[in-house]
Amino acid sequence: MRFFLGTHVFTPLAALYLEMGWLDVKYVRWLDMIRLKNRINNMNTDRWPKKVWQHDRNTNTDAWFCDVQYILNLIGLTDPGLLESEVDIDYVHRELYQHSKQFWDLEATTKTKLEFFVNVHNKDSELTIATSNLTRVQRSYLIKLKSGVLPLKVETGRYKGTKRELRTCDLCDSKEIEDERHFLIHCRALKRVRKAYLKSEEIEWGDINKKDHIAVTKHVLSKNHIKFGAKWIEDMYNTRKNLLYR
Ligand SMILES: [Zn+2]
Repeated sequence: MRFFLGTHVFTPLAALYLEMGWLDVKYVRWLDMIRLKNRINNMNTDRWPKKVWQHDRNTNTDAWFCDVQYILNLIGLTDPGLLESEVDIDYVHRELYQHSKQFWDLEATTKTKLEFFVNVHNKDSELTIATSNLTRVQRSYLIKLKSGVLPLKVETGRYKGTKRELRTCDLCDSKEIEDERHFLIHCRALKRVRKAYLKSEEIEWGDINKKDHIAVTKHVLSKNHIKFGAKWIEDMYNTRKNLLYR
């Protein structure tokens, strides 16, 4: 997942799961357990898996049977009869997916690092960075920007232990902290690339300095603009790199 999105170990898992819309590994295993339970339910009583299943049930030990019961209860299937009959696996899949999503949603809202991600992530859209037709580099820049791990000084200063107020932009003389807001909106060194993007998109934003960086990022990530937006972020970051390391 990290390789596909082109991001690194510091990207929080919640951002990756919410972005990819994948079922958490734990829930994939649980889904397989319910599939196996269905198969066992359809077996004759002389088959060993069935005998073990019934033994577990009768002895009520802390065994595989109890785990299956726990999963079914978790998704509201509390009727004991369902332990001996086939359950709708599509329903189980849907419910586990919702459960997984709620877990990662909650996880994201409790992490200060993901505050920006939560603000710009569109929960209702099926379009994600992963499903958009972008290059690997563009995907990488976008997910890093969205997850707050794009290597701007606000982030790299964290690795070096630099005080937050000292993580100022090296490209311009504004003395502002180089965070997402500064990078997208305020940095004067990136003015030309910013202007070119607004022109290519024919965006009537007026004075971009008055825009909020969350609104700008939401625009970049929206369905009809993500292609141009990803190219812009790539150009912005490459310009930043060239200015810093020329
Ligand atoms: Zn700057």
